[in-house]
Amino acid sequence: MKIWKTVASPMGDRPGNRRRVLVPTMGALHRGHGELIQSSRNAVGDGGEVVVSIFVNPLQFAAGGDYEKYPRPEEADDEFCREAGVDILFRPAPEEMYAADFSVSVDENLLANTLEGRSRPGHFRGVCTVVAKLFNLLSPSAAVFGEKDFQQLAIIRRMVRDLNFPIEIIGVPTVREADGLACSSRNQYLNSEERAQGPALQRALQEARRLFAEGERSAEAIQSAARNVIANAPLARIDYLEVVNADTLQPVTTADAKSLILVAAFFGQTRLIDNLRLS
Ligand code: AMP
Repeated sequence: MKIWKTVASPMGDRPGNRRRVLVPTMGALHRGHGELIQSSRNAVGDGGEVVVSIFVNPLQFAAGGDYEKYPRPEEADDEFCREAGVDILFRPAPEEMYAADFSVSVDENLLANTLEGRSRPGHFRGVCTVVAKLFNLLSPSAAVFGEKDFQQLAIIRRMVRDLNFPIEIIGVPTVREADGLACSSRNQYLNSEERAQGPALQRALQEARRLFAEGERSAEAIQSAARNVIANAPLARIDYLEVVNADTLQPVTTADAKSLILVAAFFGQTRLIDNLRLS
């Protein structure tokens, strides 16, 4: 495995124009990232390169957020990538990615105005900007993102369409712990009581799906049933819980086959997100 630590590496060159699939991450790698790497291996074909980027992107964290304390287990991540058969690990330094007088960024202005975008102003500007930079630096033929961050995946697809990046975007279903909690680098912040109550999010979304399958179509009724499940986890404080159209991310009053339910909740200082299609 090659490790590239500088943006000056000859990264845009793909010898023989071989396929290259990129998995952008912030590190603290877990089984969810492992699944993305596996999908990129399947997508890259013989002779292609799987590139994992690890970059804790300051631009997507709010002031006073967890940027400083975000886990950075470099050796474990190296080992994880080696074992997963990654060809190139790209780990640039923040001062190389952003010049001191950095002044150009990428904004998506429709899908980013709701849900995570409303709770975390500027977050998706940070995400779009860093992903656009990684695309320019590495020239991948495809890039892989998790459905766990459903809104992020939708916004990246929109950015690629609207800015004509010649890059295929591949979505990968959410990987979960045995009890249903979505794998996340932030799960390690949870104390044991919070960890025990974390699966309430997924249970609530499953309850929403069950109601939909039984014929319930009122988004309000579905949301309120899901909220009631989370109420059984007293350490959870809901930030948002909404049934939306999966394409537009706009709230719906009547659920249908295109509906998706998303939740964000705090457990102590830790904010977790999850989502599920209703059908
Ligand atoms: P992160 O390192 O948290 O920024 O995530 C990097 C990529 O991994 C993003 O595309 C995430 O959506 C994806 N990801 C994170 N957790 C999971 C998971 N549990 N299942 C599937 N993909 C995930």
